[in-house]
Amino acid sequence: MQKCEKCQHKFKWLEVLKSFLRFEKTYDCSICGTEHWIETTSKIIVALFYSLAPIIGFSLGQTKPSLIIFIVVLAYPLLIFLLSPFLYRFNSKYRANHNIPS
Ligand SMILES: [Zn+2]
Repeated sequence: MQKCEKCQHKFKWLEVLKSFLRFEKTYDCSICGTEHWIETTSKIIVALFYSLAPIIGFSLGQTKPSLIIFIVVLAYPLLIFLLSPFLYRFNSKYRANHNIPS
């Protein structure tokens, strides 16, 4: 998991996931409160993972349509959502203000 760019506190998987469930635009560090937002590049990567759902569903469930639907609609998107705190990279104003390279 990524660390806070200001205080180096390691983000917790559940805290990041909860912020996603609350549809918050930023993730605030639980220690220092620094706002972190998701990097555009990692948003694109996660979107690509989501877009693989039909391909994986059809390739794994060729003989069972119900398996395809289960994979495409529920299992795979849920898996990506649960893994997304690990897939996303975060930026903060702290980094921008202090010219810290990524
Ligand atoms: Zn912090």
